[in-house]
Parts: sequence; C-alpha cells; structure tokens
Amino acid sequence: MRKPLVMGNWKMNLTLSEAKTLCESIKSHYSEEVDMVVCPSYPYLSFVASVLGGSEVKLGAQNVSAYDNGAYTGDVSSEMLEDVGCKYVLAGHSERRAVFGETDETVLKKVKQIVSRQMTAVLCVGETLEERQANRVSEIISRQLNAVLNSLTEEEASHLVIAYEPVWAIGTGLAATPEQVQEVHNLIRKTVAKFDANLAKGLRIVYGGSVKSSNAKEIFSLEDVDGGLIGGASLKGDEFIKIVKLAICEK
Ligand code: PEP
Repeated sequence: MRKPLVMGNWKMNLTLSEAKTLCESIKSHYSEEVDMVVCPSYPYLSFVASVLGGSEVKLGAQNVSAYDNGAYTGDVSSEMLEDVGCKYVLAGHSERRAVFGETDETVLKKVKQIVSRQMTAVLCVGETLEERQANRVSEIISRQLNAVLNSLTEEEASHLVIAYEPVWAIGTGLAATPEQVQEVHNLIRKTVAKFDANLAKGLRIVYGGSVKSSNAKEIFSLEDVDGGLIGGASLKGDEFIKIVKLAICEK
C-alpha cells in the first residue's frame, strides 16, 4: 500500500501574512492518512516551518542548487534546505526547465543534491502540447526519467517521488483526462521497474496539472496515481484541504 501524498506548490505567490493564514488552516486539517506537504518560496521557508511547528504537515522547497556551496550568488544549497527543516524538494519542474533553461543534466545534479541529504526528491516530468500532438509522450517521459535513474544508486533512488505534470495542463485549467493520466503513470512505473521492480511497486507517482476539488476524486482513484502536486488550487486553504481529503480513496 502506497500512502497518498498531496503537495502544494505555492510558486512565487503569497505574502508572509497570507502564508501564515494558509498554513494555520492546513495544519488544523491534518490527516494521518495522507502525507501533506507545502512548498513556499525560499524566504518563507523558516517562517512556515515555525508556523507548522510540531505539526505533521511537512515542509518542501520548490528548487535547490546543483552545487554544494560557494560562489553561486542567488542559489540555495541542499544543506541549507535541510537546516531549515525541508523534507521534500522539487526537481525539474517544467517552469524551471522552460523559463530557466534547466536541462536533464542539471536536474540530475539537483536530485543528487537532494537525496544525498536524505530528503525526498520530487522529480517532475511531462511533455509539452507539441510533443503530445507529435505522439512523443513515451519518448519524452522515458528520456527525462532515464536521465536521472541511470545515475542513481538503489539507495538514492529510494528517496524519489515522481510527479507527472503535462506542461499543457499546468495552470491552464485543462487537466489531463483520467485515461491520459493512468497511461503515463503506468508507463512511469514500468520504466522504473526496469531498474528495480521493488522500487517501482512502492514508488509514489503523483499527478499535477490543473487539479481542483472538482476533478481530484476521479484522478486520485486511478490505479497508478498516488496523490497530487497542486499549484493554483493550493493557494486557497479550503480548496487544498478538500483536495487532500479526496486523496484518501479506495483503488
Ligand atoms: C504545478 O505548478 O506544479 C501545478 C500543477 O500547477 P497547477 O495546479 O496550477 O496546474
């Protein structure tokens, strides 16, 4: 049995006081049947950690440096994230790949940084609309996955979560259909099984891309879906909590 995971990716949103209100609301609705994670922007990490206090809601970061430490102005190291209490870190979000030019090689370095500190690396993979229309979904997903899996030890890979996030579904209001989601999640599990069958069985694969309380139930009940990575809908406490509750479902 894989425990569902629901993560809120706040991106570059919210003021400090909005972050406090949101966190307090999420914290008061904690459910032990779901792993709940919030990913604020860097400057708010310590503050959000203190608001979460002893709660079981976990802290996540949206990004990390590919380097250990030193002259990398503006970067934040995995050691710093660990120091402030992060348990999860996103790697290879499509906005990082598209807007900031992150390559598969950079994403691998970031995953290595994250897992070397025993934090969970949430590796984001997903195709663009053009790639889907050209029937290249399987090729793109396999490339993004293999670029990381090929260079991880079994121990390192045990700290992975995969997020399938079709680029065309992120922030557009147009989620992938249940058939599309299940097909790609199954492809991801089979690709990982080629490296390690046991790892694939226990691996959590979450879906991201315009998840809302109105479509979460259908998506979360799919066989190979183990929760969600939520952007826009994670900024409203009530909506995020509804989505979290929908992750507790029979398969
Ligand atoms: C995301 O940014 O990871 C995401 C899934 O965004 P949204 O839910 O807004 O589509």
